[in-house]
Amino acid sequence: MRFDVVIAGGSVAGLLCAREISSNGFSVLVIEEDYEIGTPEHCGGLVSIAGLEELGVIPFRKTFDHMIESATITSPNGNNFTINSKKQKVAEISRRELDKQIAFQAQKNGATIKVRTSFQELTDTGIRTNEENIDCKIFVDARGVSSLIHKDRTGILSSAQYEIYANWIKKGKVEVIFDQEKYPGFFAWIIPSNEGKGKVGVAGKGINVSEAIDMFLKEKGEFSTIRKIFAPIWIKGPIKNFVEGKTIIIGDAAGQAKPTTAGGIFTSGMGGVYAGQAISKFLKTNNKTDLDEYQKRWMNRFGKEFEKQTLARKILERIDNNTINKLFDSVTPEITKEISEKDDFDFHTGSIIKLLGLKGSIKTAQTLIGGEIKKLLS
Ligand SMILES: Cc1cc2nc3c(=O)[nH]c(=O)nc-3n(C[C@H](O)[C@H](O)[C@H](O)COP(=O)(O)OP(=O)(O)OC[C@H]3O[C@@H](n4cnc5c(N)ncnc54)[C@H](O)[C@@H]3O)c2cc1C
Repeated sequence: MRFDVVIAGGSVAGLLCAREISSNGFSVLVIEEDYEIGTPEHCGGLVSIAGLEELGVIPFRKTFDHMIESATITSPNGNNFTINSKKQKVAEISRRELDKQIAFQAQKNGATIKVRTSFQELTDTGIRTNEENIDCKIFVDARGVSSLIHKDRTGILSSAQYEIYANWIKKGKVEVIFDQEKYPGFFAWIIPSNEGKGKVGVAGKGINVSEAIDMFLKEKGEFSTIRKIFAPIWIKGPIKNFVEGKTIIIGDAAGQAKPTTAGGIFTSGMGGVYAGQAISKFLKTNNKTDLDEYQKRWMNRFGKEFEKQTLARKILERIDNNTINKLFDSVTPEITKEISEKDDFDFHTGSIIKLLGLKGSIKTAQTLIGGEIKKLLS
C-alpha cells in the first residue's frame, strides 16, 4: 500500500490535517487505533464558535449541544465570582459527533480512514501498523498526549472526567473550582451538556484523581454516573520541533493544547489545518521550507499567548489557598464586567491579568507574586 501521507490519530488534529491534504488532491490515509472515530470521548467539549468557524466546521445539529451563558469561578474558601460569557460565544459540543463530522469532511475530499489500526514504528519507506507496512512520503503524528508521554513526563497531569446526571447541574452554567490542596496546579470543573446532565472533572499534580473526583461529587450531592474517563493532559506548551525530517507532529502530540486549561479543540485543530496546508504545498514543490511554514504559522498565531499562559500556570503552581482567597477578594464587579464584555475565550491571558488584580483596586497579586507578574505583563 502506498499513500502520499499517512496520519496516525483520527481525532480533531489528524482529521483536519487529512481534510486539507485531500482537498489539494493528494492521497492520505488516517489510521485510528480505537474501534470508532470520536471514541473514547475524553473532552469537555467547550469551544468558541469563532474557533469552530476558523477550523472550517459548522456544527451539525447532532454535534451542537448548547451555548454557555456563564462561568462561575470559586476559591478554596467558597467565595466566587461569575463571568457572563454570552458575548464570548462559547458552545458545548459533542466531541464524538464533532470528530465524526470532520471525518466525513475529510472522506468527502478523498481521504481514507481506517479504525482499529495502530501505528507501530517508522520504516525506511513509510510506517508499520499492527496489520501491514505502508509506504508514504510524509508521516504525521497526531497521536495526542500518548505521543508525548515517551518524550517528557514532566508536563503531564492526570485527569478524571465523569459524565453524570445530577439536578445540581444547570444548563449553560460552567463552574471552575480552585483548591491547591485538592487539585494542585489545576482545578475541578463542571461543564453542563443540558439541564441536569454534564461532565464533571478534576486534574492536579501528584493526586489520585479517582479519589479527588469521588470526594468532589460526594460534597456536591446526589448524582448518577453514566461514564468515567481517565486521561492525561499536557500543560507545558508547544514542543521545540513540530517538523522532524519527513515526520510532522500536530495537535496535542505537539503540545498545542492551552497550558492554562489544556483545552485544545481550536489550537490543536489549527495545528492540523496549518500542517495540512504546508504538507500540500511541499508535495507540490518538494521544497523543505514549505514544511517549516507550518511551525512558523502556528507560532505566529499562538506562540505569544501560550508563553503567557505558561507563566500564568507557573504562578498558579506557586501560590497556596490563602493567596488564592486573597486574590478573589480583590476581584471587583468592574473587573468581571470588563471580562464579560471584552475578553476572548481562545486568547484569555487578558482575563487572567485582570483577575490577578493588575487592573483592579487592590494590587494583591503584585505583592505576592511580583516577579512572575512583571513577565506576564511584558
Ligand atoms: C478530560 C479532558 C477534558 C477536555 N476538555 C476540553 C474542552 O472542554 N475543550 C477543549 O478545547 N479541549 C478539551 N480537552 C483537550 C482536547 O480533548 C484535546 O486538545 C484534543 O482532543 C486534541 O486533539 P488531537 O487530535 O491532537 O489528539 P487526541 O484527541 O488526543 O487524539 C489522538 C488520537 O490518536 C489515537 N492514537 C493514539 N495512539 C495511536 C496509534 N499508535 N495509532 C493510531 N492512533 C493512535 C487516539 O486513539 C486518539 O483518537 C480536554 C481533554 C481532556 C483529557
